[in-house]
Amino acid sequence: MLKLYEGTYDAQKKLNQFEVLDTIRKTDVMSCPEIAEKLKLSNPTVINIVKEFVDRKVLLYAGEAQSRGGRRAQLVKLNESAGYVIGVDFEIPHITAVLTDLKMNVIKKSKAILPKNADDTVNYLVKCTKELLNNVKINKENIMGIGISLPGLIDRQRGISIIIDRPIKWRNVDVKGIFEREFHFPVVILNDANAMALGEKMLGSHSKGLKDMIYVALRSGFGSAVFLDGTLYQGQRGLAGNIGHVTVNNTGPECSCGNHGCIEVYCNERILEKKVKDAVSKKNIKDNEDVFEAARKGNLHALEIVRETGEYMGIGIATLVDLFDIRDVVVGGTEVSVRGGQMFLDIIREKAKKCLFFSSEDSSIDIRLGDIEEDAGALGAAIMVIEESFRKPEV
Ligand SMILES: [Zn+2]
Repeated sequence: MLKLYEGTYDAQKKLNQFEVLDTIRKTDVMSCPEIAEKLKLSNPTVINIVKEFVDRKVLLYAGEAQSRGGRRAQLVKLNESAGYVIGVDFEIPHITAVLTDLKMNVIKKSKAILPKNADDTVNYLVKCTKELLNNVKINKENIMGIGISLPGLIDRQRGISIIIDRPIKWRNVDVKGIFEREFHFPVVILNDANAMALGEKMLGSHSKGLKDMIYVALRSGFGSAVFLDGTLYQGQRGLAGNIGHVTVNNTGPECSCGNHGCIEVYCNERILEKKVKDAVSKKNIKDNEDVFEAARKGNLHALEIVRETGEYMGIGIATLVDLFDIRDVVVGGTEVSVRGGQMFLDIIREKAKKCLFFSSEDSSIDIRLGDIEEDAGALGAAIMVIEESFRKPEV
């Protein structure tokens, strides 16, 4: 398994190695003098660190920089195939697994559906991950870890899935432990909304450059996440910014979490599908017609269903904007958002703006659709492994 800061007990050197590597991986190519100048290190220090990483094939020389007079400096870049990571997204019953290189190029992807009769769900996840690995021709020793995106309540520090309700019932499943014993790579787990947000933030073009950002996504639940100063804020257990289980009606229907009237009760893919089914059975919507398409064509029943969902999303967004005072919001590129498109976004925007604190005085909120249409959760889980692997070493 590739470990980046091995082979030195010198704390200062380890930190310098981290700074150099972190600087290079966040740009495309850089010369040693540029790195030295940026990090306020001496040129020979940077050259030595770069040489060590080149010898270990973590970095590559990438030609010579334009001369500023004197000897031309060598350019260096990250060797994207120095390491690989695995991301697994469990959106019941769908399982998506990806294997990517360090620049998030997808080398292999697999999708599976959890069989209804699967008696051991976590082992089925293990099996899918093994199949992904068995079908790639890479040096397994270069795998840096596995990231697993999970719904429900998690404890990310301990790697435990505390609760998943419906349709499977998990209580205190040691996902990290089970995967680590099976694969012998480091394993991180994260909340699915956080994973999708991370995928969108790092790979989506609509959230590029945003330091503070709110992310929401409609899936089997209503997920959300928050970036503060460019970093995903996870909180103590990995659930920060989760607005789906805020009560909006304490006498409302029971939620999967056991409370009543959470936003998520009114706003998730399952409830949307159920409303569409009811409308189809009353012949208000044609069988097999997409509810968003029907709404766009002027079907008032379809529009009502879409509006209800979008408005609850708007309420959730306004609450998050007021809590964090962050004006940039990205709505996850999930299937619903893609199918809903601009019409759905307009409904969400209108409601969110109405519900904001001093809304009439404030036009600064910017809500946009994300553009990672699928696999955001698996990619985000893989990104988390890279972030953890390149993390500042503890010295
Ligand atoms: Zn709830």
